[in-house]
Amino acid sequence: MATIQWFPGHMAKAKRQVQEQLKAVDAVIELRDARIPESSKNPLIDHIIGNKRRIIVLNKSDLADPAQTKLWMKGLKGQETDVLALDSKNPNAIKRFRKDLLAITQDEREKWLKKGMKHKLIRLMVVGIPNVGKSTFINQLTQKKIAQVGNKPGVTKGQQWIQIDKDFALLDTPGILWPKFEDEEVGKRLALTGAIKDTHYYSDDIALFALEFLLDYYPSALRERCHLTEEEACPPYPDLLMTLTEKLGMKDDYERASDWLIRELREGRIAPVTLDRFEDYLMVYEKEEI
Ligand code: GDP
Repeated sequence: MATIQWFPGHMAKAKRQVQEQLKAVDAVIELRDARIPESSKNPLIDHIIGNKRRIIVLNKSDLADPAQTKLWMKGLKGQETDVLALDSKNPNAIKRFRKDLLAITQDEREKWLKKGMKHKLIRLMVVGIPNVGKSTFINQLTQKKIAQVGNKPGVTKGQQWIQIDKDFALLDTPGILWPKFEDEEVGKRLALTGAIKDTHYYSDDIALFALEFLLDYYPSALRERCHLTEEEACPPYPDLLMTLTEKLGMKDDYERASDWLIRELREGRIAPVTLDRFEDYLMVYEKEEI
Protein backbone atom coordinates (compact mmCIF):
# COMPACT_ATOMS: atom_id res chain seq x y z
CA MET A 1 0.00 0.00 0.00
CA ALA A 2 1.23 3.52 -0.79
CA THR A 3 2.86 5.64 1.90
CA ILE A 4 0.44 8.08 3.41
CA GLN A 5 1.74 11.45 4.51
CA TRP A 6 -0.29 12.70 7.41
CA PHE A 7 -0.55 16.43 7.75
CA PRO A 8 -2.94 18.11 10.15
CA GLY A 9 -5.28 18.90 7.26
CA HIS A 10 -5.26 15.29 6.08
CA MET A 11 -5.90 14.04 9.59
CA ALA A 12 -8.89 16.33 10.02
CA LYS A 13 -10.26 15.26 6.62
CA ALA A 14 -9.80 11.54 7.33
CA LYS A 15 -11.53 11.94 10.67
CA ARG A 16 -14.46 13.80 9.10
CA GLN A 17 -14.80 11.18 6.37
CA VAL A 18 -14.87 8.30 8.82
CA GLN A 19 -17.36 10.12 11.04
CA GLU A 20 -19.60 10.71 8.03
CA GLN A 21 -19.44 7.07 6.94
CA LEU A 22 -20.09 5.89 10.48
CA LYS A 23 -23.54 7.44 10.32
CA ALA A 24 -24.51 4.77 7.79
CA VAL A 25 -23.30 1.76 9.78
CA ASP A 26 -24.65 -0.22 12.74
CA ALA A 27 -21.28 -1.28 14.07
CA VAL A 28 -17.64 -0.53 13.39
CA ILE A 29 -14.86 -3.08 13.17
CA GLU A 30 -11.69 -1.44 14.46
CA LEU A 31 -8.61 -3.34 13.37
CA ARG A 32 -5.55 -3.18 15.56
CA ASP A 33 -2.26 -5.05 15.37
CA ALA A 34 -2.28 -7.75 18.07
CA ARG A 35 1.44 -7.15 18.67
CA ILE A 36 0.79 -3.49 19.50
CA PRO A 37 -2.87 -3.18 20.59
CA GLU A 38 -2.28 0.27 22.08
CA SER A 39 0.32 1.70 19.67
CA SER A 40 -1.75 0.75 16.61
CA LYS A 41 -4.71 2.72 17.92
CA ASN A 42 -5.71 6.07 16.46
CA PRO A 43 -5.35 8.69 19.22
CA LEU A 44 -8.85 10.05 18.57
CA ILE A 45 -10.60 6.74 17.96
CA ASP A 46 -12.80 6.80 21.07
CA HIS A 47 -14.01 10.25 20.14
CA ILE A 48 -14.49 9.31 16.46
CA ILE A 49 -16.51 6.17 17.22
CA GLY A 50 -18.42 7.74 20.10
CA ASN A 51 -20.95 5.31 21.54
CA LYS A 52 -21.43 3.35 18.32
CA ARG A 53 -21.19 -0.41 18.70
CA ARG A 54 -17.52 -1.38 18.30
CA ILE A 55 -15.76 -4.65 17.60
CA ILE A 56 -12.02 -4.43 18.13
CA VAL A 57 -10.19 -7.02 16.07
CA LEU A 58 -6.67 -7.82 17.23
CA ASN A 59 -5.41 -8.76 13.79
CA LYS A 60 -2.16 -10.60 12.99
CA SER A 61 -2.71 -12.54 16.21
CA ASP A 62 -0.66 -15.35 14.64
CA LEU A 63 2.37 -13.10 15.13
CA ALA A 64 1.52 -12.06 18.71
CA ASP A 65 2.19 -13.64 22.09
CA PRO A 66 -0.99 -15.64 22.89
CA ALA A 67 -0.80 -14.98 26.66
CA GLN A 68 -0.63 -11.23 26.03
CA THR A 69 -3.46 -11.38 23.47
CA LYS A 70 -5.68 -13.01 26.10
CA LEU A 71 -4.96 -10.20 28.57
CA TRP A 72 -5.59 -7.51 25.98
CA MET A 73 -8.86 -9.10 24.90
CA LYS A 74 -10.13 -9.02 28.45
CA GLY A 75 -8.75 -5.56 29.17
CA LEU A 76 -10.15 -3.87 26.06
CA LYS A 77 -13.65 -5.31 26.39
CA GLY A 78 -16.25 -2.73 27.32
CA GLN A 79 -19.97 -2.24 27.41
CA GLU A 80 -20.30 -1.28 23.73
CA THR A 81 -17.03 -2.96 22.74
CA ASP A 82 -16.32 -6.59 21.93
CA VAL A 83 -12.83 -7.86 21.24
CA LEU A 84 -11.80 -10.71 18.95
CA ALA A 85 -8.36 -11.96 17.95
CA LEU A 86 -7.80 -12.93 14.33
CA ASP A 87 -5.32 -14.12 11.75
CA SER A 88 -6.90 -12.64 8.63
CA LYS A 89 -4.77 -14.76 6.33
CA ASN A 90 -6.15 -17.99 7.73
CA PRO A 91 -9.47 -19.07 6.11
CA ASN A 92 -10.42 -21.24 9.11
CA ALA A 93 -9.86 -18.33 11.48
CA ILE A 94 -12.08 -16.18 9.25
CA LYS A 95 -14.82 -18.85 9.43
CA ARG A 96 -14.63 -18.83 13.23
CA PHE A 97 -14.65 -15.06 13.19
CA ARG A 98 -17.94 -15.02 11.24
CA LYS A 99 -19.53 -17.26 13.87
CA ASP A 100 -18.21 -15.04 16.67
CA LEU A 101 -19.52 -11.96 14.87
CA LEU A 102 -22.94 -13.56 14.61
CA ALA A 103 -22.93 -14.43 18.31
CA ILE A 104 -21.88 -11.00 19.54
CA THR A 105 -24.49 -9.22 17.42
CA GLN A 106 -27.33 -11.54 18.43
CA ASP A 107 -28.76 -8.91 20.82
CA GLU A 108 -29.02 -6.48 17.90
CA ARG A 109 -31.07 -8.98 15.87
CA GLU A 110 -33.31 -9.69 18.85
CA LYS A 111 -33.92 -5.97 19.31
CA TRP A 112 -35.06 -5.69 15.70
CA LEU A 113 -37.24 -8.78 15.96
CA LYS A 114 -38.99 -7.26 18.96
CA LYS A 115 -39.62 -4.12 16.95
CA GLY A 116 -41.28 -6.29 14.32
CA MET A 117 -38.46 -6.00 11.78
CA LYS A 118 -38.03 -9.56 10.59
CA HIS A 119 -34.71 -9.39 8.92
CA LYS A 120 -32.24 -6.62 8.56
CA LEU A 121 -28.63 -6.70 7.52
CA ILE A 122 -26.16 -5.46 10.12
CA ARG A 123 -24.09 -2.85 8.35
CA LEU A 124 -20.41 -2.78 9.21
CA MET A 125 -17.37 -0.76 8.30
CA VAL A 126 -13.68 -1.37 8.90
CA VAL A 127 -11.31 1.26 10.28
CA GLY A 128 -7.65 1.08 11.17
CA ILE A 129 -4.15 2.47 10.67
CA PRO A 130 -2.18 1.75 7.46
CA ASN A 131 -0.86 -1.79 7.07
CA VAL A 132 -2.89 -3.29 9.91
CA GLY A 133 -4.53 -5.70 7.44
CA LYS A 134 -7.74 -3.93 6.42
CA SER A 135 -7.70 -5.03 2.75
CA THR A 136 -6.73 -8.59 3.67
CA PHE A 137 -9.52 -8.72 6.22
CA ILE A 138 -12.15 -7.32 3.85
CA ASN A 139 -11.12 -9.64 1.01
CA GLN A 140 -11.13 -12.72 3.21
CA LEU A 141 -14.40 -11.91 4.90
CA THR A 142 -16.26 -11.12 1.70
CA GLN A 143 -14.49 -13.53 -0.63
CA LYS A 144 -14.73 -10.59 -3.03
CA LYS A 145 -18.45 -11.24 -3.43
CA ILE A 146 -19.29 -7.67 -4.24
CA ALA A 147 -22.98 -6.84 -4.28
CA GLN A 148 -24.90 -3.65 -4.12
CA VAL A 149 -27.00 -3.56 -0.99
CA GLY A 150 -28.50 -0.17 -1.61
CA ASN A 151 -27.31 3.34 -1.05
CA LYS A 152 -27.25 5.02 2.30
CA PRO A 153 -26.54 8.61 3.19
CA GLY A 154 -22.92 9.13 4.14
CA VAL A 155 -21.59 6.55 1.77
CA THR A 156 -19.26 8.29 -0.62
CA LYS A 157 -19.85 7.85 -4.34
CA GLY A 158 -17.88 4.91 -5.63
CA GLN A 159 -18.17 3.01 -2.39
CA GLN A 160 -20.49 0.10 -2.11
CA TRP A 161 -21.93 -2.32 0.35
CA ILE A 162 -20.74 -5.86 0.08
CA GLN A 163 -23.21 -8.40 1.35
CA ILE A 164 -21.22 -10.95 3.34
CA ASP A 165 -24.12 -13.34 4.00
CA LYS A 166 -27.75 -13.09 5.05
CA ASP A 167 -26.81 -11.23 8.23
CA PHE A 168 -24.06 -8.75 7.39
CA ALA A 169 -23.13 -6.08 4.87
CA LEU A 170 -19.77 -4.37 4.82
CA LEU A 171 -18.67 -1.08 3.32
CA ASP A 172 -16.10 -2.05 0.69
CA THR A 173 -13.66 0.78 1.46
CA PRO A 174 -12.04 0.91 4.90
CA GLY A 175 -11.54 4.09 6.92
CA ILE A 176 -7.81 4.80 7.17
CA LEU A 177 -6.74 6.53 10.35
CA TRP A 178 -3.31 7.62 11.57
CA PRO A 179 -1.43 6.18 14.57
CA LYS A 180 0.15 8.17 17.45
CA PHE A 181 3.50 8.81 15.83
CA GLU A 182 4.40 11.81 17.96
CA ASP A 183 5.47 9.43 20.74
CA GLU A 184 9.00 8.10 20.07
CA GLU A 185 8.51 4.73 21.77
CA VAL A 186 5.25 4.20 19.88
CA GLY A 187 7.04 5.20 16.65
CA LYS A 188 9.69 2.52 17.19
CA ARG A 189 7.05 -0.13 17.87
CA LEU A 190 5.17 0.88 14.72
CA ALA A 191 8.39 0.74 12.70
CA LEU A 192 9.40 -2.65 14.10
CA THR A 193 6.03 -4.20 13.24
CA GLY A 194 6.04 -2.65 9.76
CA ALA A 195 3.25 -0.11 10.22
CA ILE A 196 5.61 2.74 9.28
CA LYS A 197 7.50 2.60 6.00
CA ASP A 198 11.16 1.59 6.18
CA THR A 199 12.31 4.93 4.80
CA HIS A 200 11.10 6.71 7.94
CA TYR A 201 13.77 5.34 10.29
CA TYR A 202 17.34 4.08 10.55
CA SER A 203 17.34 0.31 10.65
CA ASP A 204 20.16 0.07 13.21
CA ASP A 205 18.14 2.23 15.64
CA ILE A 206 15.19 -0.11 15.26
CA ALA A 207 17.43 -3.19 15.50
CA LEU A 208 18.92 -1.94 18.78
CA PHE A 209 15.40 -1.34 20.03
CA ALA A 210 14.46 -4.89 18.94
CA LEU A 211 17.47 -6.42 20.70
CA GLU A 212 16.65 -4.64 23.94
CA PHE A 213 13.01 -5.71 23.73
CA LEU A 214 13.81 -9.33 22.90
CA LEU A 215 16.41 -9.59 25.64
CA ASP A 216 13.89 -8.25 28.15
CA TYR A 217 10.96 -10.46 27.15
CA TYR A 218 12.03 -13.32 24.88
CA PRO A 219 15.75 -13.92 25.65
CA SER A 220 15.88 -17.64 24.89
CA ALA A 221 14.05 -17.22 21.55
CA LEU A 222 16.57 -14.52 20.61
CA ARG A 223 19.55 -16.68 21.56
CA GLU A 224 18.18 -19.67 19.72
CA ARG A 225 17.30 -17.89 16.46
CA CYS A 226 20.53 -15.88 16.38
CA HIS A 227 22.82 -18.64 17.67
CA LEU A 228 24.02 -16.53 20.58
CA THR A 229 25.35 -17.86 23.88
CA GLU A 230 24.14 -16.47 27.21
CA GLU A 231 27.42 -14.59 27.60
CA GLU A 232 27.04 -13.01 24.16
CA ALA A 233 23.36 -12.10 24.50
CA CYS A 234 23.64 -9.19 26.92
CA PRO A 235 23.93 -5.39 26.88
CA PRO A 236 25.46 -3.08 25.75
CA TYR A 237 23.24 -3.40 22.71
CA PRO A 238 25.61 -1.87 20.12
CA ASP A 239 28.14 -4.59 21.05
CA LEU A 240 25.43 -7.22 20.81
CA LEU A 241 24.53 -5.97 17.32
CA MET A 242 28.23 -6.24 16.36
CA THR A 243 28.40 -9.82 17.66
CA LEU A 244 25.21 -10.71 15.81
CA THR A 245 26.53 -9.19 12.57
CA GLU A 246 29.70 -11.28 12.82
CA LYS A 247 27.74 -14.43 13.67
CA LEU A 248 25.60 -13.91 10.57
CA GLY A 249 28.78 -13.74 8.49
CA MET A 250 28.03 -10.16 7.50
CA LYS A 251 31.43 -8.81 8.68
CA ASP A 252 30.77 -5.16 9.65
CA ASP A 253 27.59 -4.62 7.62
CA TYR A 254 25.45 -3.64 10.62
CA GLU A 255 22.72 -2.28 8.44
CA ARG A 256 22.28 -5.59 6.67
CA ALA A 257 22.26 -7.45 9.99
CA SER A 258 19.76 -4.92 11.35
CA ASP A 259 17.46 -5.45 8.38
CA TRP A 260 17.71 -9.20 8.85
CA LEU A 261 16.78 -8.98 12.54
CA ILE A 262 13.83 -6.66 11.86
CA ARG A 263 12.52 -8.95 9.14
CA GLU A 264 12.87 -12.06 11.29
CA LEU A 265 10.96 -10.41 14.11
CA ARG A 266 8.25 -8.96 11.84
CA GLU A 267 7.62 -12.27 10.17
CA GLY A 268 7.37 -14.11 13.48
CA ARG A 269 10.44 -16.27 12.94
CA ILE A 270 11.98 -15.46 16.34
CA ALA A 271 8.83 -15.96 18.41
CA PRO A 272 5.26 -14.71 18.46
CA VAL A 273 5.84 -11.40 20.25
CA THR A 274 3.77 -8.62 21.77
CA LEU A 275 5.52 -5.26 22.06
CA ASP A 276 2.77 -3.43 23.96
CA ARG A 277 2.82 -5.31 27.27
CA PHE A 278 -0.60 -5.34 28.86
CA GLU A 279 0.84 -4.97 32.37
CA ASP A 280 2.27 -1.55 31.37
CA TYR A 281 -1.27 -0.33 30.65
CA LEU A 282 -3.00 -1.70 33.73
CA MET A 283 -3.68 1.81 34.99
CA VAL A 284 -5.67 2.53 31.83
CA TYR A 285 -7.48 -0.77 31.41
CA GLU A 286 -7.70 -2.09 34.94
CA LYS A 287 -10.81 -4.15 35.42
CA GLU A 288 -12.00 -5.74 38.63
CA GLU A 289 -11.70 -9.27 37.35
CA ILE A 290 -8.02 -8.93 36.36
P1 GDP B 1 -4.02 -2.42 4.99
O1 GDP B 1 -3.03 -1.37 4.61
O2 GDP B 1 -4.56 -2.16 6.37
O3 GDP B 1 -5.11 -2.65 3.99
O4 GDP B 1 -3.19 -3.78 5.16
P2 GDP B 1 -3.05 -5.02 4.13
O5 GDP B 1 -4.32 -5.80 4.08
O6 GDP B 1 -2.48 -4.52 2.86
O7 GDP B 1 -1.98 -5.94 4.91
C1 GDP B 1 -0.67 -5.49 5.21
C2 GDP B 1 0.24 -6.70 5.34
O8 GDP B 1 -0.12 -7.48 6.48
C3 GDP B 1 0.16 -7.65 4.14
O9 GDP B 1 1.47 -8.12 3.88
C4 GDP B 1 -0.73 -8.78 4.63
O10 GDP B 1 -0.45 -10.01 3.99
C5 GDP B 1 -0.36 -8.85 6.11
N1 GDP B 1 -1.44 -9.36 6.97
C6 GDP B 1 -2.72 -8.92 7.04
N2 GDP B 1 -3.42 -9.59 7.98
C7 GDP B 1 -2.56 -10.49 8.53
C8 GDP B 1 -2.67 -11.47 9.58
O11 GDP B 1 -3.71 -11.65 10.24
N3 GDP B 1 -1.53 -12.19 9.86
C9 GDP B 1 -0.36 -12.01 9.20
N4 GDP B 1 0.69 -12.76 9.54
N5 GDP B 1 -0.23 -11.09 8.22
C10 GDP B 1 -1.30 -10.34 7.89
